[in-house]
Amino acid sequence: MSLDLTLRLIESVNATPAGSTALIDVTGTHDVSVAQRWAEATGNTILTVHPGAVEILRGRMTDPIAALPPDRRPGYRLWLYTNFHCNLACDYCCVSSSPRAVPRIVSSEDTAELVRQATAAGVEELFITGGEPFMLLDLDERLRAALPHLPTTVLTNAMVWQGERRTRLEALPREGLTFQISLDSATAELHDRHRGAGSFDRAIAGIRLAIELGFRVRVAATLGHDAGTAEIELIELFDSLDLDAEQRVVRRVAQQGAANEGLTVSRASLIPEVCATADGVWWHPVAAADPAMQVSTSWSPLDEVIDAVRDEYRQHRIRGDVLASSFPCA
Ligand code: SF4
Repeated sequence: MSLDLTLRLIESVNATPAGSTALIDVTGTHDVSVAQRWAEATGNTILTVHPGAVEILRGRMTDPIAALPPDRRPGYRLWLYTNFHCNLACDYCCVSSSPRAVPRIVSSEDTAELVRQATAAGVEELFITGGEPFMLLDLDERLRAALPHLPTTVLTNAMVWQGERRTRLEALPREGLTFQISLDSATAELHDRHRGAGSFDRAIAGIRLAIELGFRVRVAATLGHDAGTAEIELIELFDSLDLDAEQRVVRRVAQQGAANEGLTVSRASLIPEVCATADGVWWHPVAAADPAMQVSTSWSPLDEVIDAVRDEYRQHRIRGDVLASSFPCA
């Protein structure tokens, strides 16, 4: 080991409070390797390798991902935007979908390859969203490629199941397939205000049809500042549909896409949920049209993308902890 570097490491890190970081000047990869071996041997952690310096956390880092419930860990669930066009144009749509949106379709072949890579990477479940996924007449082909390997949930407004789409819907497997259907209120006024006139009645009809056909259904409401008592009123409707707790989702509008207001989200504030689209991979499905949330321009190889997302999440969390522990005002 380089004696000078080792002495500087000892002096700097020992003078640093536990949980805080020290920046040590290094020259080249040999020095980085020396610092890594020293940190490993002395119970400290290399946090970041900068050009010309390494940042060392005093003490062992506990893995922030291990602290998450298994089903919240990045890579447990894979989201896939099969397309971005939609029969509706909701005024808070987080990816600005509409009948005029560029479709950006992920083909059946690419879906099958994505599922293959996801399974190999340890992904446990697939969520398909859009746009309206059932705008794709051949969505059933993608579902048949996924279902033997991953339990799959399709987010849908349940409004386009007519004609050929209805025929293909009825022929779908039930095993492992869930439809998460959007419904924002127990009566039409609030739902139609944001999603368009007549959409409430058609969504209710779609929910009832899916249940009648024997599909597992989850109902999901998206509520903004004007929701009033909608969340409470929805409980009665959920009860009348005999939905259990896992079949009810209520979430807030995020300020993304077409939404002018709502929760502010960022890579530092959201636990990532790896999300693939035709254009690459995003940090989270709620922000799959936000350039600041794009992780990669390609979803292949998926295991490497998932690892990169996990690493970045660790950095965000550790940096947050370090900042919190090193900002005393008294
Ligand atoms: S929120 Fe859903 S239903 Fe509404 S425009 Fe967006 S994708 Fe379509």
